[in-house]
Amino acid sequence: MIENSIVYREFKGKYDYFPLSRADGATIWDKEDREYIDFTSGWNVTNLGWNNPEVNQAVIEQAKKNVQGLLWGSEPIQEEYARQLTAVLPRELDACVKTTGGTEAVEVAIKVARVYSNRKKIIGFKNSYHGQLFASLALGSIEKEREKLAPLVPLVAPIDFPHEDIGQAGFEKFLDDFEKILSQKDVAAVVTEAGIITGWGSTLLAYPGFLSKIREICEKYGTLLIVDEVGTGFSRTGKLFGIQHENVVPDMIVLAKGISNGASAISTVVGKSAIFEDAFIDAVLISTFGWTPLACAAALKTLEIHLRDKVWVDAAKKGKYIVERLSKLVGDKVVSVRGMGMEIGVRFKDAEVAQMVRQKAFANGLHAVLGQADNMQIMPPLTSSHEELDKGLDILEKCL
Ligand code: PMP
Repeated sequence: MIENSIVYREFKGKYDYFPLSRADGATIWDKEDREYIDFTSGWNVTNLGWNNPEVNQAVIEQAKKNVQGLLWGSEPIQEEYARQLTAVLPRELDACVKTTGGTEAVEVAIKVARVYSNRKKIIGFKNSYHGQLFASLALGSIEKEREKLAPLVPLVAPIDFPHEDIGQAGFEKFLDDFEKILSQKDVAAVVTEAGIITGWGSTLLAYPGFLSKIREICEKYGTLLIVDEVGTGFSRTGKLFGIQHENVVPDMIVLAKGISNGASAISTVVGKSAIFEDAFIDAVLISTFGWTPLACAAALKTLEIHLRDKVWVDAAKKGKYIVERLSKLVGDKVVSVRGMGMEIGVRFKDAEVAQMVRQKAFANGLHAVLGQADNMQIMPPLTSSHEELDKGLDILEKCL
């Protein structure tokens, strides 16, 4: 689809082409100045509300000082951000790579894993999403969506994701199979989200204990665990980071999206410094726009607000409230409601019903998206007031 000379992906009706004219908190407006409650946060980006004034102001202040860094050096605000970010992550994750977006950071983590481990295989999970470049695509995504782009990156491939419905026996079988693969000692890294798939719109929850169990098995066979917290990070799931739900320490964690609340493009891989020390020269970890001082100012302020306001506490409570309200709708049209914090999936009877509800909701002033065709992935700004959430939920209820 081409609109205004810009190329868009054709979303085949899953989304509406949205000419965004302004945005504030939990509300967005189109170019006709129609107002919508936003249940997407731009897909887990504006967790602190659209155009958070404190974050935007931090960018303005930094613009008065310096906007660009050097490839071969550092800038005070970059150093400050690295210090503050590593201070809130597990102690072992003590070094950051400067990157610009989720995809780039995932690709960097894969490169580092190959160089560090001297192994080639990388494992992801089916129907997950880690980006649109060749290795990140090869990790997950939908088989048929990759056909025309093939061949992707050799030896990067997904296995089945053990979602919560597989039951104890199914989960044990998954762990056995997983261990068999890793016991070959040729897998450089496993890449996964932290207990929920946020990237491709299925909002599938992992079987409880998934992350800690695979952590153990990776450790046993010298495989690195890379956790993609592009969607789950920054209070989205009711903790500052998703890894905290099972107290797992990965070898690398990938952060983007909510990291700067949308005020600037920035991402990072935070990992154990021993890994980077070994791998950084051969992995060539440089990025011209990685961590511009402007982006660091946005990220620093974003982190400060999450910590100051303990945003995750509210996100957990509001998420519970949303699930409770939506669960009352389970019946002939709604099959299930589940989630972690304010990352919530509503599965409809089929794609047709999902589409009908989404379109009706849109016509009534609620902006929400379907990821997988029959699933609405609800991810409002975490700072949405109860009134705003109720307004959106009332619309959904009415549409059913
Ligand atoms: N990982 C996950 C879990 C994501 O949701 C996304 C984006 N939807 C990415 C990686 C890629 O991030 P970006 O679009 O910033 O490249």
